[in-house]
Amino acid sequence: MTSLSAKSKESIAVLCMIWMALVATSFTWTYHLRKQEQQAIGFHTAKSFFEQILVTRAWSARFGGVYVPITDTTQPNPYLDDPLKVIHAREGFSLTKINPSYMTRQISDLTMQRDEVRFDLTGFKPLRPQNSPTPMQKEALEQFKAGVKEVGRIIQSPQGQDTFFYMAPLKAEKDCLTCHAGQGFREGEIMGGISVTLPHMPKISSVALAVGHGLIGGLGLAGILFFGASLNRAYQKLRDQAIIDALTGIPNRRHLEDRLASEFDRSKRERSPLSLIMVDVDRFKDFNDFYGHRPGDECLQRIAQAMQAAINRPGDFCARYGGEEFVVLLPQTASVGALSVAERIRLAIAGLEIPHEASSHAKVVTASLGVATRDESNAVLSSEDLIKKADAALYRAKQAGRNRVVGADDREIVPLHPAGVPR
Ligand code: GH3
Ligand code: MG
Ligand code: MG
Repeated sequence: MTSLSAKSKESIAVLCMIWMALVATSFTWTYHLRKQEQQAIGFHTAKSFFEQILVTRAWSARFGGVYVPITDTTQPNPYLDDPLKVIHAREGFSLTKINPSYMTRQISDLTMQRDEVRFDLTGFKPLRPQNSPTPMQKEALEQFKAGVKEVGRIIQSPQGQDTFFYMAPLKAEKDCLTCHAGQGFREGEIMGGISVTLPHMPKISSVALAVGHGLIGGLGLAGILFFGASLNRAYQKLRDQAIIDALTGIPNRRHLEDRLASEFDRSKRERSPLSLIMVDVDRFKDFNDFYGHRPGDECLQRIAQAMQAAINRPGDFCARYGGEEFVVLLPQTASVGALSVAERIRLAIAGLEIPHEASSHAKVVTASLGVATRDESNAVLSSEDLIKKADAALYRAKQAGRNRVVGADDREIVPLHPAGVPR
């Protein structure tokens, strides 16, 4: 499997980061919306309770309060200044007046026993000391004085639960002044407020939200990594197809030209020698004619492998130049070294001992090689020039009888004659 290139890794990493940023934004935004929803539910629920209590108070105030039997739990309101606060209906049965404030408190006590919504009456100058405002109520009262119509927000209960606190002002109405006129209140003036506390707000499960987003994030990441790697492999395959020769599996001419251009520049820049070997299989047309095209292909594949094996320095580069011609690039290699590598290649090809009955000069497949070098001492001006010189040397090798190495400066290596590789 083709490994990922640094650039692909970088692109995939950037995609992963963008994806994670999107997931994180989605998490934050969803959490924010849920909070807003929770706030809206709390606000409207608490406001409805507040409205309800106002209606109930108005009903009670319309009659100047209502009378109920005195019991252990319903004792006369000590803060009510009314001569008719207690009425003795008959022997052993008395009634006491429940004014709107007392009624509010009683309803609140009832709901608190049931651990439900809680109402608290408070004011700037409460008749009952327990109705003095808490710090939160005081803050709300100040806001009402400044013109705010109502307040409501989620707070944390001492038990760490989400609780909703709502408060709206209580204005002095005609009926209220029966009791409160003595405190100097006038009709329409804010006497205080009623706070509504909802103890059990629906909880936003940030853990569930985080797990959900974590799953989506993880799946997305896996998708990006999987498809990124697949795309990269497809891209690498296409790229390989563009630069690798399909028959032999070694670099093709285009790849060679790119490499030659960069190595030629480097050679000039670093003043280091660069050698090029042009290899041409001898009498290959005759081989094809004699053995057929398919064995010809197989022969080229074996020659390519043998050439690859014959070059051993990491910078050396072998490519199929076209047909039965190959080029070997040897960076940082002077002429003498290149000639000996060329000879090694020649011997490697001949050493394959691929029978060639139709050859003019040998019983096995051989190749001729031309070697050219660019260094500071010669006038090789361009990479094309280097190829031309190697090609000219190759031509001379052919002319001289094939199966040999010829250098551009006419130095010819006298080949060794291993058994079975006659010249
Ligand atoms: P010389 O010794 O002068 O190089 O003779 P040659 O026959 O090798 O030279 P020529 O250029 O006349 O022929 C090259 C032959 O290489 C022609 C073609 O049949 C063969 N050839 C080129 N490419 C391929 C290929 O991909 N597969 C096969 N089987 N043969 C190829
Ligand atoms: Mg040829
Ligand atoms: Mg040939």
